[in-house]
Amino acid sequence: MKKIFLLVFVTAFNLIASEEKINLFDLYKELHSNPELSYQETETSNKLAVILDEMGYEVTKNVGGNGVVALLENGEGKTIMLRADMDGLPVEEKTRASYASKKKTLNLEGVEVFTMHACGHDVHMSVLIGTAEFLMTNKDLWQGNLLLVLEPAEEVSGGARNMIKDGLFTRFPRPDFNLALHVNAGLQAGKVGYLPGWAMANVDSIDITVKGIGGHGAYPHTTKDPIVLSANIISQLQTIVSRQIAPTDPAVVTVGSIHGGTKHNVIPNEVKLQLTLRSYTDEVRNETISSIERIVRGSAIAAGLSEDYYPVVKIKDEYTPAVYNNPGLVEKLQKSFVKSLGSDNVIKVSPVMGGEDFGMFGRVEPIIPTALFWLGAVNEKVYERATRDDITLPSLHSDLFLPDAEPTIKTGVIAMSNAALDLFNTDY
Ligand SMILES: [Zn+2]
Ligand SMILES: [Zn+2]
Repeated sequence: MKKIFLLVFVTAFNLIASEEKINLFDLYKELHSNPELSYQETETSNKLAVILDEMGYEVTKNVGGNGVVALLENGEGKTIMLRADMDGLPVEEKTRASYASKKKTLNLEGVEVFTMHACGHDVHMSVLIGTAEFLMTNKDLWQGNLLLVLEPAEEVSGGARNMIKDGLFTRFPRPDFNLALHVNAGLQAGKVGYLPGWAMANVDSIDITVKGIGGHGAYPHTTKDPIVLSANIISQLQTIVSRQIAPTDPAVVTVGSIHGGTKHNVIPNEVKLQLTLRSYTDEVRNETISSIERIVRGSAIAAGLSEDYYPVVKIKDEYTPAVYNNPGLVEKLQKSFVKSLGSDNVIKVSPVMGGEDFGMFGRVEPIIPTALFWLGAVNEKVYERATRDDITLPSLHSDLFLPDAEPTIKTGVIAMSNAALDLFNTDY
């Protein structure tokens, strides 16, 4: 196994240094400068499809929108899926990188917005390409099917669902394992983070329209004020996590937006609220949603509104399911990482309530063991300074988030390539 590790290490460096092979750092910079929004990843997906095709993969484009599937059938063995996501975000980049994005584009509503790879999906794609090249060049070291998936529209939680609907698991060999990584804005470049079990949360977006009967601000007794009712509802919603869900079950209810009214002395007819909900289990998710429905209805009754005026709760059905890291698979990965990166660079991390629709690839019948690991992306010196001076590092989605790309990508390729090799080569 030592021989394999060394090979991966050397090749990963070569990928970056060599003239003939793909220069992953150049690729990264190009991707970083040219982010595309969710559902608009046409240039990105075309570019990567060409690279994978030239490497010798059997490439299928437009799987579930802009999704790309690259397959290498390399004899009898397991099928392993590696995923990278492709979309950027409507964020104006404020980093001072020479390759910072200056790109503006029309979003799906036709509004011009700045775009940025603020979630590190450019790193994910570069690592996937590096891993693809290594596993193709060294295909005598493993047997089985390698299924590389470039997922579109992850940030809006549509890509995984659309790719599955479009036959990802029927038109191509069905994976025995699904693997992905995500950059981590709180971990040093050179390190990876792992955790078994729940890793990232269910994400639901909910719109609530609180209805009332508007009128003059000086004659409140002739109205049913939806602003007061909304304030009451927002306070009551905070009791779901604090008083109803078991303290041992993580959950979040955040009202992120409230809009109502036009003027000081006019009581409006309605107020609109936008919520994000987070949970791990389906039970907590369902309990949170039914509590919201009960609270808004009860508050409307208490305000003396008739049924026609009960608040309307709209749950977006395209929710992001939680990422559950299969514990057996994580144990294997952790051993593989220690071997390829050294135990000092393999860190057990805590779960977060962020969302990632990668979890959906495992939530099929029958379930596919799935694991996502974290790839440290913070420059060593920046990390040390931040720790020393107690400075908060820019988070994912921040306009200042800038991975230390070279060591991050190298580490990602080493970790991912070795993990795939180990999974192909050991019994599970
Ligand atoms: Zn993101
Ligand atoms: Zn992301």
